[in-house]
Amino acid sequence: MKTLPAVDVVIVGGGWTGLLMAKELGTRAAVSVVVLERGEPRKGADYFATMDELDYAIRLHMMQDLSRETATLRHNARQRAFPLRQHGAFLPGSGVGGAGEHWNGISPRYLPDCFELLSRTIEKYGSERLPEDHSLQDWCVTYDELEPQYERVEALMGISGKAGNIRGKQIEGGNIFEGWRNSEYPTPPTKIPYLSAMFRDAARDVGYHPYPTPAATNSQPYTNPDGIARAGCTYCGFCERFGCMIGAKAQPTNTLLPVIEKKKNVSIRTGARVRRIVHEAAQKGRRARGVIYIDASGEEVFQPAELVFLASWTLNNTRLLLLSGIGEPYDVDTGKGTVGKNLTHQVFFPAATVFFEKPLNRFMGSAAAGIRVSDLDGDVFDHRALPFLRGGILEVLSLGFRPIANFGVVPQTVRTTWGSEWKKAALHYYDRTGSINVAAEHLAYRDNYMDLDPTYRDYFGDPLLRLTLDWRDNERRLAEFMTAKSVEISRAMGAREIVPFSGLKHYDGARYQTTHVQGGTIMGNSPDRSVVNPYLQHWQMSNLFILGASTFPQSGSANPTPTLLALAYRAADKIVGRYLKNPAALV
Ligand SMILES: Cc1cc2nc3c(=O)[nH]c(=O)nc-3n(C[C@H](O)[C@H](O)[C@H](O)COP(=O)(O)OP(=O)(O)OC[C@H]3O[C@@H](n4cnc5c(N)ncnc54)[C@H](O)[C@@H]3O)c2cc1C
Repeated sequence: MKTLPAVDVVIVGGGWTGLLMAKELGTRAAVSVVVLERGEPRKGADYFATMDELDYAIRLHMMQDLSRETATLRHNARQRAFPLRQHGAFLPGSGVGGAGEHWNGISPRYLPDCFELLSRTIEKYGSERLPEDHSLQDWCVTYDELEPQYERVEALMGISGKAGNIRGKQIEGGNIFEGWRNSEYPTPPTKIPYLSAMFRDAARDVGYHPYPTPAATNSQPYTNPDGIARAGCTYCGFCERFGCMIGAKAQPTNTLLPVIEKKKNVSIRTGARVRRIVHEAAQKGRRARGVIYIDASGEEVFQPAELVFLASWTLNNTRLLLLSGIGEPYDVDTGKGTVGKNLTHQVFFPAATVFFEKPLNRFMGSAAAGIRVSDLDGDVFDHRALPFLRGGILEVLSLGFRPIANFGVVPQTVRTTWGSEWKKAALHYYDRTGSINVAAEHLAYRDNYMDLDPTYRDYFGDPLLRLTLDWRDNERRLAEFMTAKSVEISRAMGAREIVPFSGLKHYDGARYQTTHVQGGTIMGNSPDRSVVNPYLQHWQMSNLFILGASTFPQSGSANPTPTLLALAYRAADKIVGRYLKNPAALV
């Protein structure tokens, strides 16, 4: 094994969180930073010719290579898990920029009470209302503490939107249920395409408070506080699963990389796949010494470092801790141990598929251009008489319909699945179809967790991560409720035919939901119940920090990226302001 000269900081993973930390430390402190990224190099200019639906959106050009490493899945601990051999429920990214290159850019904040879910729920409804097998906990950081960091994230990306609550003053047209914000969004809302506008009007008629989806696909040209200028969106519709051709969608390569590239003290090594965090027991607590990775030529390399960051996304962060023997793995039988617990996946489903007689011009769009309703989110509405806790948002996005993925949806009144009648209907309805989607909270349960699979291994011989995950009645009932509300709005939209969602039943590893998977290395205020402290520092290893949604104790209904970046900014401030001067536990 080759040993390299030591660096101050090594960061595993070159996605949103890894590159944000590299930029913050590399520009604000006199430290040498190396980012190790398993995938290929990327830059904004690479996307000039990416409008290839087959290659990018169907064959998933930018995602993790599942023939080399994947995860296994089962619904409960009595079952044997099987490898996910095709991409399904989520789409892990690979390459510089990570999943942030091909994300949608939907960028809401978490509701304030998400961060204190356990205590607020008990306070309002009593502990008897909690599901018997829940594993909820407070985050030990509050919305108020994170608000300035959310503002920095929005400024970094130039988020387009309409505020609904500025310093406590409710503003019509924005999300009046959101937590307080110090300021308006950096750029105005995106254009609202036709179907989303129909949803907005119908939702208002039904009595809800629709507002434009907060979008990292910028509505107009924008220059961020680092002086990085980006174009406004042209609504070509090639966003989700693609890098943006003109840079209107905020991505790590067009916001963070241009700053990092100018810094001589920061370097990014691609084709560097980290297998282990090397650590030792020192007299006063344990320390990480660096990481071992396989480089692009296949050689094993030891990179020593004073400070180690895991920024390799939820599943990889958890797996690297387990493979490296850091912390106590969660034991589902005893409830002891913390690494791997509280696996959650944002609940997402098409609550109502709607068919119209008029064309909707759905070829135009942008991955985050749309309208949402938060009247049924979190605890915005009273749950005393309802058979479930918490809620979610209803949304009509106008992503830009593409012919391969979106062709072939016909109403149930078309009674054939082949032949000329079906073809005629499929052509007719191609631009007359849409859906009201729901994104909802997923509570944490004792039996939803991750550990190392005893049977299956990756290309390098390391055990795969095993996911044990299923829905509970809380999610199933919530889905039924949200489906009924979506059907009501669909009627008000004047849909000719409405097909309601058929229900959640069991967790489906084949149906794409979102790549919003949380937990495994969760944060909290005690090493007995969490892996990292509220500054994302490992409880037992003070020179190891973990970034990303693996630190979320449970899933909010909101998409996670603004929250995970807000937490990364908060950790960076503490590391620059305190840790680098006195490397010790921050809590
Ligand atoms: C199709 C899609 C749409 C999305 N839309 C939205 C959205 O609208 N809103 C939202 O908030 N979020 C969205 N997301 C999620 C968002 O992309 C993630 O929350 C975000 O990218 C997480 O950042 P991260 O740094 O934690 O991980 P990532 O961006 O996944 O980066 C992790 C990096 O680590 C690298 N890595 C992994 N293992 C290793 C290893 N062993 N050694 C070296 N490198 C390694 C990976 O290759 C990857 O580049 C979407 C994701 C996808 C896939």
